[in-house]
Amino acid sequence: MKFVKCVVCGKETRFRICGSCLIERGAVAKLEKLNLEVCAKCNSIKIGGVWLNIPLEEAIERIVYEKLKVDPNLSVNGVKVEEKLIVLSGILNDDPVEISIPLQYKLHRISCPRCSMESGGYYEAIVQLRAVKRVLREDEIRKAEEIVQRSLSESEGEKEFLSKFEKTKNGIDFYFGSKKLGEKISRRISTELGGRIFESRKLHTRVDGRDSYRFTFLVRLPEYEDNDIVIKNESLYVVKNAKMSRGLDLLTGKSANIIDAKVAVKRSDLDWGVITNLDESSAEIMTEKGDIVLVQRPFRAEIGKEVFVFEYKNRNYAFPRDL
Ligand SMILES: [Zn+2]
Ligand SMILES: [Zn+2]
Repeated sequence: MKFVKCVVCGKETRFRICGSCLIERGAVAKLEKLNLEVCAKCNSIKIGGVWLNIPLEEAIERIVYEKLKVDPNLSVNGVKVEEKLIVLSGILNDDPVEISIPLQYKLHRISCPRCSMESGGYYEAIVQLRAVKRVLREDEIRKAEEIVQRSLSESEGEKEFLSKFEKTKNGIDFYFGSKKLGEKISRRISTELGGRIFESRKLHTRVDGRDSYRFTFLVRLPEYEDNDIVIKNESLYVVKNAKMSRGLDLLTGKSANIIDAKVAVKRSDLDWGVITNLDESSAEIMTEKGDIVLVQRPFRAEIGKEVFVFEYKNRNYAFPRDL
């Protein structure tokens, strides 16, 4: 290996000028003044064309790595970002060196695309929550709102926001910035509350020569609620799990799918009574009002057993209260 003397300090080195002296001359590392775009509303920061919701220090560090220019002879093995300084350490012409360069940046407070769209009321999807032939219950509305909140907190996409929501006479409407989010939330609501989703779309406008649509996801919760009596294919069922569409056949006690079943008697309209007499095919019931009614022998019938009693299409029915 051939050594020469550094032309500046005279130290033995493999290079014409040693690393330490090269630094004195400057221009080994350069960092232009940084311009950062920060959203005044949500504090997200634009990095390489993408808006990210990260702390300012982290954003500066990432932009520093992007914009830092170093001499090809410098092999950097450490970058420290301080308040007004970047400290680089590495090897330059065989010498271990540490270089400090000033950190200058300017923050430009603007509105990010997401906040602009959000405040402009932009939306691509409406999720409508309704129930068949009844108003929504408070607990259903609360659950839906909780699902919306949960989904929004998991979303980061530019258009994944809630533009507005409206309570209408029959239900509630949520407006979302993205179709994808609307679709996801409607599916979650239907999974957690039951019901079916009906999707429709409407031509909204044309963007760059392409049709742009607005989507409606209508979630229709079933009319029936737990413990209602429903009818499907001429059989009566007691609803055991409305959101999973499960019911028990009144005469056999067998579990069945009751999707699309119609309400025969609401749970609030059931009477109760006690079985006072039994034979192979029928049972006699004394109701709470003191009436005696005759019904087809209920499932798991015993004398003395408490039952619910109801009339449907001029016939009386009964089933055990503990079914
Ligand atoms: Zn030197
Ligand atoms: Zn923003």
